[in-house]
Amino acid sequence: MSRTYTFSPFATHHSPNKMINITFPDGAVREYEKGTTALDIAKSISEGLARKVLAANINGQVWDATRPINDNASIKLLTWNDAEGKATFWHSSAHLMAEAVESLFPGVKFWVGPPVENGFYYDMDLGDRKMTEEDLAKLEKKMNELAKQNNIYTRKEISKKDAIKYFSDKGDEYKLDLLQNLNDGGITFYSQGNFTDLCRGPHIPNTGFIKAIKLTNIAGAYWKGDEKNKMLTRVYGVTFPSQKELDEHLQMLEEAKKRDHRKLGKELGIYTMDDDVGPGLIMWMPNGTVIIEELEKLAKETELDAGYKRVVTPHIAKESMYLTSGHLPYYADSMYPPMEMEGEKYYLKSMNCPHHHKIYAAEPKSYRDLPYRIAEYGTVYRYEQSGELFGLMRVRCLHMNDAHIYCTKEQFNDEFRAVNDMYIKYFKIFGIDKYVMRLSLHSPEKLGVKYVNHPELWKETETMVRNVLIESNIPYVEVQDEAAFYGPKIDVQIFSVIGREFTLATNQVDFSQSRSFKLQYTTQDNKTETPLIIHRAPLGTHERFIGFLLEHYAGNLPVWLSPVQVKILPISDKFLEYAKTVLHKLKKADIRGEIDDRNEKIGKKIRDTELMKVPYMLVIGEKEMSDGKASVRRHGKGDLGAKVVDEFISEVKNEIEQRAGE
Ligand SMILES: [Zn+2]
Ligand SMILES: [Zn+2]
Repeated sequence: MSRTYTFSPFATHHSPNKMINITFPDGAVREYEKGTTALDIAKSISEGLARKVLAANINGQVWDATRPINDNASIKLLTWNDAEGKATFWHSSAHLMAEAVESLFPGVKFWVGPPVENGFYYDMDLGDRKMTEEDLAKLEKKMNELAKQNNIYTRKEISKKDAIKYFSDKGDEYKLDLLQNLNDGGITFYSQGNFTDLCRGPHIPNTGFIKAIKLTNIAGAYWKGDEKNKMLTRVYGVTFPSQKELDEHLQMLEEAKKRDHRKLGKELGIYTMDDDVGPGLIMWMPNGTVIIEELEKLAKETELDAGYKRVVTPHIAKESMYLTSGHLPYYADSMYPPMEMEGEKYYLKSMNCPHHHKIYAAEPKSYRDLPYRIAEYGTVYRYEQSGELFGLMRVRCLHMNDAHIYCTKEQFNDEFRAVNDMYIKYFKIFGIDKYVMRLSLHSPEKLGVKYVNHPELWKETETMVRNVLIESNIPYVEVQDEAAFYGPKIDVQIFSVIGREFTLATNQVDFSQSRSFKLQYTTQDNKTETPLIIHRAPLGTHERFIGFLLEHYAGNLPVWLSPVQVKILPISDKFLEYAKTVLHKLKKADIRGEIDDRNEKIGKKIRDTELMKVPYMLVIGEKEMSDGKASVRRHGKGDLGAKVVDEFISEVKNEIEQRAGE
């Protein structure tokens, strides 16, 4: 394998007197020689820091830590603790894996190898060979060997002609395909050890940073995601800067397996799917429906308190509405194909917003009517490719905790803050201690293309949103160029107790749809104005949120959410009548109870109830009956002793009303 393109990243080609100013995140400015690197800068601070630096954010772009900086710049050093540092680490690991694959499977051709949520993958064409689980072990061994060589990731700018020649000689039509869409002048190769790849970068300084490696999965993936194309082999892996972190990660995965919502959903009778109904179409069984109704009750109470009104809208609408909203043609791919009736095309709704806008427009509005807040647990339909469907996480029919707030600019801050407070109120109820809000901003170069062309409104709303986050002391990160078409948005990521990340919901600002739908209000001095819209869905969709809750609680739902809250277990038929009077009392107190009247031994009844994770069991025998009591068992805690039934009921009722945690 050629190493002609390698050059030393440490070489500094600068004249000694040229100095540049480097601005640090805290605003401090220091002078460095032109051609210095992020790694040099880290070393100037401390050797310890230099050992941790994976890459650097230079003027908003992630760079190799070894790439010379020739002009004044602002810098943020990136380590394992930064998402971008981690992504660079994992992407560099994909290169390392590719090198190992090439040594085991000479002639392999590579497509792309990006970092993903938990690690990385590389798509490859192995010809008529097949990769097996045993190969993964061999590859891990090879990767460890190569990592220990501390091979440097070197960057090389290359002309399009030379790049094409390199991959033509290698016979890799996939890289040649990538090259077709690249412009001469911006093409780079990266090499480490015996492997050279066409890549934009960035990468970590050397392979020695990669201390622990696990290749996790082999899958098939159509080239470019198109099922008409060839099926490539996708190998997934994950790497860490220490063995300890890998061990913890594997343990977390083991725990996640036990908490898998698909497994728990079946065991606890929460939901089902059926071939005759179709893939990705969830049917909620009685136990799941109890959870849904409790969540909706919570949402309705909370929204009523916050001044929302409820609405109900149909599941379909005419094409013309989605042309107005811009869903057509831009989001046609994620919508179901249209139905034709009476010479018109109708679409299943993929969002509730347009229907809600029509409700706003149904009656003239004045400033007195604002803020106008309307809420609906709306059913929406999204077309997800069948390969993408996954349990409750990716489905084709969703029930969304949706609402839209129409307000004036002056009202925006208070409204937006109230929405954030609502998110946090919910997080407390569900014991979600860790969450991050990602503020997605527009990119000024893409105004009129990816974003509506209202530069001043973008600036204004982005500042308003940022200020609310700062004032409310909410942890957030900013990302460029990921806003919605019509305004800045906040993606809320929550973490389950075992540390897995879920994207729950978005909270979006919209200054555009009100214009498309000609939504207006009259101001105090009788002028016509356009309202701002806030789209919000703190509890996301039932599907994703219940999937999250099952993992988060490992199926041990808090009492208020439990389908059956109290199970009454008579020791024998003799106590059935008394059991029925206890059940009657539970019902009168709005507690969901059931009697296990099977002719089984009490030990078996207890075990079965434990398996269904019912929070409370009342064991009833001779002594309990004569004392007007019941022996209380708490799921996961065991025997709590005998209690007077009425006292037990008032305690449980209190626990339910408080929506106390597990
Ligand atoms: Zn790369
Ligand atoms: Zn909306």
